[in-house]
Amino acid sequence: MKEGKIVTQNQEIAVVGAGIVGATTAFYLAKKGYSVTIYDEGTGQATAAAAGIICPWLSQRRNKKWYHLAASGAKFYPELMTDLGESLTDSAIYQQVGTLLFKKNEKLLLKLEKLAKERRETAPEIGDLTIVASDQLHDYVPILNSSQAALFASGGARVDGELLTRKLIEQAVELGATFQQGKVALTIDAENQLFVQSKKYTQVVLAVGAWLPELLEPLGFTVDIRPQKGQLLCLDIPEETTNWPVVMPDGEKDIIPFNNGKIIVGATHENDKGYDLTPTAPELKLMLAEASELAPSLKQAIQVSTKVGTRAYTSDFSPFFGQVSECPQLYVASGLGSSGLTTGPIIGKMLAQAIHQEETELDFADYPVADYVVDRENK
Ligand SMILES: Cc1cc2nc3c(=O)[nH]c(=O)nc-3n(C[C@H](O)[C@H](O)[C@H](O)COP(=O)(O)OP(=O)(O)OC[C@H]3O[C@@H](n4cnc5c(N)ncnc54)[C@H](O)[C@@H]3O)c2cc1C
Repeated sequence: MKEGKIVTQNQEIAVVGAGIVGATTAFYLAKKGYSVTIYDEGTGQATAAAAGIICPWLSQRRNKKWYHLAASGAKFYPELMTDLGESLTDSAIYQQVGTLLFKKNEKLLLKLEKLAKERRETAPEIGDLTIVASDQLHDYVPILNSSQAALFASGGARVDGELLTRKLIEQAVELGATFQQGKVALTIDAENQLFVQSKKYTQVVLAVGAWLPELLEPLGFTVDIRPQKGQLLCLDIPEETTNWPVVMPDGEKDIIPFNNGKIIVGATHENDKGYDLTPTAPELKLMLAEASELAPSLKQAIQVSTKVGTRAYTSDFSPFFGQVSECPQLYVASGLGSSGLTTGPIIGKMLAQAIHQEETELDFADYPVADYVVDRENK
């Protein structure tokens, strides 16, 4: 009998949203033997549109709690892959191919190398750190052409968010979960009982990313979440790209090689477009032009498709997750911003652990829901 079977009986859990957070939560809940129903609408999902960079250690964000979460999230990936039965060395979903990061000048690059070495003391997952001279860049990524050196971190990885969530949901369903496509609403009655599409649940997890206000504001909550539009380009090139590292130029437009010639270039960070999902030629053209400065042959690449998704941001850019204190059977997670592929899986796993009343690796109090989800009546 599986661990937790006794605790889990008579518990019906709804997970609303099957992006990276909801899919991981549902997978681990199903693994613990819970009866899980997953609801997902899917349009604009950030996870399916994401670029796929897992490399938090080279970020210069000063928010220590965010860094702790993101570094723990990156460390957790190999465990997640093992739990899913995926190879760590040959997978289309996740691969530690390393990251090549550029800075404006050598002084800033050396400063970053110093920070990365300090961080490696607590995060050995960062791997080997090497300054790669400009004339050696092509050994790492043959299409690069730059007069600048870069920092290579061997522990950096790339993940295909769409493939990962598909696998998580497939396995959750194999373990007994139910998946329902479509948009749903949550209701809470006077006794704090939770209903999704008029079906009663013992617990509900809202992993709906940028759409949390839409679900909770009708119930009397104010939610500090705003949408941010992100667009990216999917290219095809003739080279064999499978083991190329992720390239992070100075700025926001990255080059992420996947298997068999597939390259992603992106992404935009558009704060004034709300939930709009229209690809726009000027932004896509500009991204390609910027990426081509470092990799000129990308100008000739075949443009296969564009992806557009909506990120969720809080006003101070911090993510939050855990129980809603006014309604403890309700769990939420949002505000993962531009690093949610990195932080999402560990958040999902910890939500499942919290529901199962297990100890979690990180303290939920560091990512307090109450700072971002406020009951208007009790304010
Ligand atoms: C262009 C782009 C590039 C990115 N690149 C990276 C990167 O390189 N590295 C990184 O770490 N992160 C990256 N991110 C960020 C990352 O993708 C997100 O932070 C993360 O995927 C958010 O996951 P989530 O599960 O919270 O939300 P989402 O993935 O948005 O999932 C929410 C789901 O809930 C569903 N939903 C909403 N309302 C309802 C409802 N009423 N009923 C049913 N379903 C509903 C939605 O349809 C959606 O499917 C990127 C994001 C974008 C947009």
